Amino acid sequence: MNNKLYLVIPCYNEEEVLPETARRLKEKISFLIEKGKIDKGSRILFVNDGSRDKTWDIISALHEENCLYSGINLSRNRGHQNALLAGLMTAKEHADMVISMDADLQDDINAVDEMVDKYLSGIDIVYGVRSSRAKDTFFKKATAEGFYKLMNSMGANTVFNHADYRLMSKRALEGLAEFQEVNLFLRGIVPMIGYSWDVVYYERGERFAGESKYPLGKMISFAIEGITSLSTKPIRLITGLGFFIFLVSIGILIYSLVRHFMGATIVGWTTLMVSVWAIGGLILLSLGVVGEYIGKIYLETKARPRYIIEQFLNEEDVED
Ligand code: UDP
Ligand code: MG
Repeated sequence: MNNKLYLVIPCYNEEEVLPETARRLKEKISFLIEKGKIDKGSRILFVNDGSRDKTWDIISALHEENCLYSGINLSRNRGHQNALLAGLMTAKEHADMVISMDADLQDDINAVDEMVDKYLSGIDIVYGVRSSRAKDTFFKKATAEGFYKLMNSMGANTVFNHADYRLMSKRALEGLAEFQEVNLFLRGIVPMIGYSWDVVYYERGERFAGESKYPLGKMISFAIEGITSLSTKPIRLITGLGFFIFLVSIGILIYSLVRHFMGATIVGWTTLMVSVWAIGGLILLSLGVVGEYIGKIYLETKARPRYIIEQFLNEEDVED
């Protein structure tokens, strides 16, 4: 059989949720194994993203207790996307399909069954899409939906209301491994891989313990990261803006000449001040955006490792 499933779960300071998450996931995996949908060698792979609490101790203990649990310990905190990538790239060596999800189980784990069914029918990438955000706070909902809209309008095409809850086949992961960029924004890259894909809808629940590790500040920097690493549309917008301002300035030139010949030479100090400030602001803004891309180039040329694995606890299935 070629249906070995690895669940990849990035964890950052998740000691409060881990024991319960582990219990529920084990139930789910055992159930799927029993039904013969997935292989006995399937694993739950926790990636500890440099947590400062007992997360790694819990993962090691789980691994000791049951070989169904595997763990990766990163050398330090590298952020959700890198932790996820470390898990995916490690799992692809062992699994036929990989599902990634968050440690807090806000994403309904019952969608896993449907994802596996789709994989078995030959689909390579299955996106988990939130059907509603009724359980999210108003603020989280508004900021998160604004996030997707901003991303799409800026040329970073992503699947609407899909976070990183998805199934990927081994060959899709091999495709992903071909993307060499360091600033990896998974949600934007995965659709670029191609292959057959489908979506599964689910209800998003509440975090059952602990706090969100994605406060507003992190979300905004995530959005900027996503836009600038996927598209150059902001640069084009600036070019357009510059062109527009140029046209306006020609208009103003004509206007002042006309005023000059009409004899009304003392043109307002206000106009002058306003334009100086407006142009100054625009220049600064444009420089900032250009700088953003130059920063990206700088980081890409360094080709720093995206993560370093300190330890990998895994018991490979030897039979069959
Ligand atoms: N996470 C991580 N590294 C980080 C921040 C978060 O691995 O630096 C993990 C976290 O443990 C969780 C997932 O990313 O499994 C999503 O985080 P969270 O649930 O806090 O985000 P939210 O659901 O509030 O957007
Ligand atoms: Mg969450």
